[in-house]
Amino acid sequence: MFRSKEMRDRYDECKKSDEFNSGCALCKKDTIQEFRYWRIVLNDFPYDRIARVHNMILPIRHIAGDGLNAEEIAELFEIKKKYLRDYDYIIETSNQRRSIPDHFHLHLIMSKSSLDEES
Ligand SMILES: [Zn+2]
Repeated sequence: MFRSKEMRDRYDECKKSDEFNSGCALCKKDTIQEFRYWRIVLNDFPYDRIARVHNMILPIRHIAGDGLNAEEIAELFEIKKKYLRDYDYIIETSNQRRSIPDHFHLHLIMSKSSLDEES
């Protein structure tokens, strides 16, 4: 998949820690860029096989995807248009694979240049 074995192991280890399991791991993360309803954070466990930069965008409210309101959804589309153009991929993980299903987030990926050469 998108993470190397080493990165997967590191993430699995972290998911067992008290720090990860006390409260929402996403709510605790530092903000890189903040909007009205959304903020961008760094991913500590990047998709290192494909990404040279891996950030995430999430609603400031602790809310699952089906709880987003119309204003939040509208702002997300605005942000996509204006601020997310430098990313190569915006990935939404489906429910089966989400490790933090309670707090909606999209993965923002700038791909490794080696991937571009393959295509
Ligand atoms: Zn949260």
